[in-house]
Amino acid sequence: MNVLVFNSGSSSVKIRLFQMPEERLLAACQVEKIGQPDATFSHGEIEKVISAPDHTAAISYICNHLNLSPNDIAAVGHRVVQGGEKFIEATPITPHVEKEIDALKAFAPLHTPPNIAGIQAGQTIMPHATHVAVFDTAFHQTMPEHAYRYAIPTIYYTRDHIRRYGFHGTSHRYVSERASEILGHPFTGITCHLGNGCSITAIKNGQSVDTSMGFTPLEGVAMGTRSGDIDPAVVLNLAQKLGIKETDHLLNRESGLLGLSEKSNDLRELLASAQEGDTKSQLALNIFSYRITKYIGSYLAILGPIDGIILTGGIGENSPDIRQQILANLTHLGICLDLTKNTACIGQENTISIETSPIKIFVIPTDEERLIARQTYRLTANASMHS
Ligand code: ADP
Repeated sequence: MNVLVFNSGSSSVKIRLFQMPEERLLAACQVEKIGQPDATFSHGEIEKVISAPDHTAAISYICNHLNLSPNDIAAVGHRVVQGGEKFIEATPITPHVEKEIDALKAFAPLHTPPNIAGIQAGQTIMPHATHVAVFDTAFHQTMPEHAYRYAIPTIYYTRDHIRRYGFHGTSHRYVSERASEILGHPFTGITCHLGNGCSITAIKNGQSVDTSMGFTPLEGVAMGTRSGDIDPAVVLNLAQKLGIKETDHLLNRESGLLGLSEKSNDLRELLASAQEGDTKSQLALNIFSYRITKYIGSYLAILGPIDGIILTGGIGENSPDIRQQILANLTHLGICLDLTKNTACIGQENTISIETSPIKIFVIPTDEERLIARQTYRLTANASMHS
């Protein structure tokens, strides 16, 4: 059975084609700059400018390029960023479900409209396939109320649904399921997804019990361009001076590594400039690592004994320097990094703690699309068994 996975952003769509249940990746391609005159299609070495005024045109182009007839595709899994409290697991998309996703757009105004555009384009092109929504927030719906509520008057939760939702759920679930497989029992520990966006999750017996991102992906550790945790009074102060819109832009797009270094949001560039003696870049890296260590400490406190810590995402998978900065001084907590294994581990799965470390440290490359394909396949196979 062939399953397509769609990841639709405001001006891009990434598509993966999997053969299931083997989880064999058959194709990976994308269209960027949708809606612009220089929309670009890429597939491996191939890169060309195409006409893609909207998501439907982009997806049609990809299907034609891959020579896919709509009948070749049994199911399509769609990444959906915000599922609110309604969606606690992957869900087949019906007109009612689509309406419910649309109703959540006030919570994710940048992500929901393109997610819906991708769903509608997919349904138009492949009307006979089963379409499944896989939510970034669903994995975190197991958090207890004392973890997901903010200490503001209750009415803002009951009426306005202001609470911690958490994001990157598909990635945290993927790497923790992989760790459960390695360990032979459900994983208890801390997963660190460190990419352009970063989030840390506390996991007990395979279930999320707390996570650093909150009502939006702005909360938590410092990120490429996002501030992460900040005294709310600073936000009020900034909003008074700059206005709401400018403050939003400042905290989401101009802060984090970029704001501190005044140079770049790309960790590789900051490592290089810090090496050359740039003190702002070094401070940005120090703040970045320090805050992640602080989250790890707080999650150790709430979890009790744990199996391990998992690092993933572009930074977690590829940067021994940052991993060392985050973890090197935690031996008193039973977290014993093996410096040689750490240096040797770039972009592949490995255990990088010493043999005798009470808490294991794993590097596990994430694969959100594979998990979306897996969940989509499961739902589709189940539905066809019961029909
Ligand atoms: P996204 O969150 O957009 O999916 P990624 O998971 O690809 O992003 O992570 C991007 C980050 O990973 C960037 O800060 C980049 O500098 C960093 N990164 C990628 N490769 C390396 C590397 N070899 N060493 C250090 N950092 C890296």
